[in-house]
Amino acid sequence: MSNLIATDEPPEAVRLMVKVYACLLLAGFSLVPAYLIGYLYFFQDPTLLFENHLFHIFAITAATLAGLFVTYVTWRCYQSSGEPLLRWMTLGFLGFVVIYALHGAFTGLAHHNIWLFLLYGPASRLVMSILLLIGMLSYHRPPDAADQRMKARPWLTWIGLFLVVDLAVAYVANLPIAGNLAVRLSMEGGALVLSTLTVTILLLRRIRSPLMTIFIISVTAFALSSLAFILARPWNHMWWLAHAIFAGGFFMLSYGVGQAFLTTRSFSRIYSQEELMVRLAEAMAYAESALQELQRTNQELGHLAATDPLTGADNRRRFMERVEGEIGRTKRGDAPFSVLALDLDNFKSINDRFGHQVGDDILKSFVEKCLDSIRPYDGVARVGGEEFMILLPQTSLEGAHEIAERLRSTVANSSFHGLQRPTVVTVSIGVSQSGRDGDTIEAILRTADQRLYHAKHEGRNRVVTAFKTNLQPLP
Ligand code: GH3
Ligand code: MG
Ligand code: MG
Repeated sequence: MSNLIATDEPPEAVRLMVKVYACLLLAGFSLVPAYLIGYLYFFQDPTLLFENHLFHIFAITAATLAGLFVTYVTWRCYQSSGEPLLRWMTLGFLGFVVIYALHGAFTGLAHHNIWLFLLYGPASRLVMSILLLIGMLSYHRPPDAADQRMKARPWLTWIGLFLVVDLAVAYVANLPIAGNLAVRLSMEGGALVLSTLTVTILLLRRIRSPLMTIFIISVTAFALSSLAFILARPWNHMWWLAHAIFAGGFFMLSYGVGQAFLTTRSFSRIYSQEELMVRLAEAMAYAESALQELQRTNQELGHLAATDPLTGADNRRRFMERVEGEIGRTKRGDAPFSVLALDLDNFKSINDRFGHQVGDDILKSFVEKCLDSIRPYDGVARVGGEEFMILLPQTSLEGAHEIAERLRSTVANSSFHGLQRPTVVTVSIGVSQSGRDGDTIEAILRTADQRLYHAKHEGRNRVVTAFKTNLQPLP
């Protein structure tokens, strides 16, 4: 984790300075249009014109097409996340495109009816600034319901409304008061005020997510473009600069929409690098602890899979694995090992007389006694109902006999819970040794079993380590 986020923490003051510097950079960048406006305002002759209708038509056509595309991408984001801000942004872009397109279309009328040409510009910016302001106010509102997003009707209503604005602008443009500067200035000034308000509120609300930062920079550009339009005269350089500033803001905001589209389709659920790093670190810490938990559970499961649930002794499978391991060791030159096969005597009758529960308790106590009689690395396994096996690594037949005998007498002399005198629990044991009684697991275990059978045959409660020649041959 430590290499993910730098841990050599610089002094808090330095951190703060870097943060402030980053904010100032963003502010400085947002205000680049203002420097250009100032430059033209103070140093450029406002009577110099660049009146090129073709270029204007080309620029507005490009803006309209880009606007339509961005409207579509924003709408797709809204469909996916249902964020109200994205709904209003879609409407903002759409309204802008529907109204602004006429500004381009009427370029040819610049001389014939200047107001019909000019007024669509401020009208489109005013409409967009209103919708972006409302959208900004809806930031962090819960997403719209899925079925609500799909409805076509509200969108058609809005398109109708934008067309009404188109007609209204045409109507005003043909009124005698159209030439009144106040008409154009009130629209452009309205856009300027509303965009400034949007930026101010966002700054006051301290909304700093990456896409909203882009949103702030873009709306600042829209505000400054309105300022430039107010200071401009048609076709002069300030007028063209105003177009360029607006385009810059539009590009920025489109970029933000593109980022949203390519990631979470949302403006609020996009994180800064800083947040991402913290989230990544959290996720990694979570994954690591989950992995540890998983390993622990796996170990537990492995233990359970190798253990007899009643007595806690190894099960047959585990015992066989261990014997295989010991055979491998002896092949590599280690001392031989021995195996005990144990079977409790007349256990059926104990069960019959005292009940199954008492039988179970005896089985548990028996395993405990086995463990007490052997070394920590010897293994006790329950291989049947009241049948057990013990593995004694690096133990000769003689040594194993001694251990078996000790265990046998311990059991015979123990009193078990639930039993009544004179009932005693006894155990018969057969012993075999690797090498002497065979080299394979089958041969070694079979010999131990056969000797156990001999022990039973000889009267139980005894240890048999070698076949006795005077016994009847085994079936
Ligand atoms: P022998 O001395 O010949 O071994 O006689 P035995 O009665 O012990 O032999 P047998 O194999 O006929 O019976 C084994 C009995 O062990 C049968 C069953 O009642 C008992 N038993 C097996 N598993 C369990 C168990 O999990 N709990 C209890 N309480 N008894 C069990
Ligand atoms: Mg038995
Ligand atoms: Mg048995």
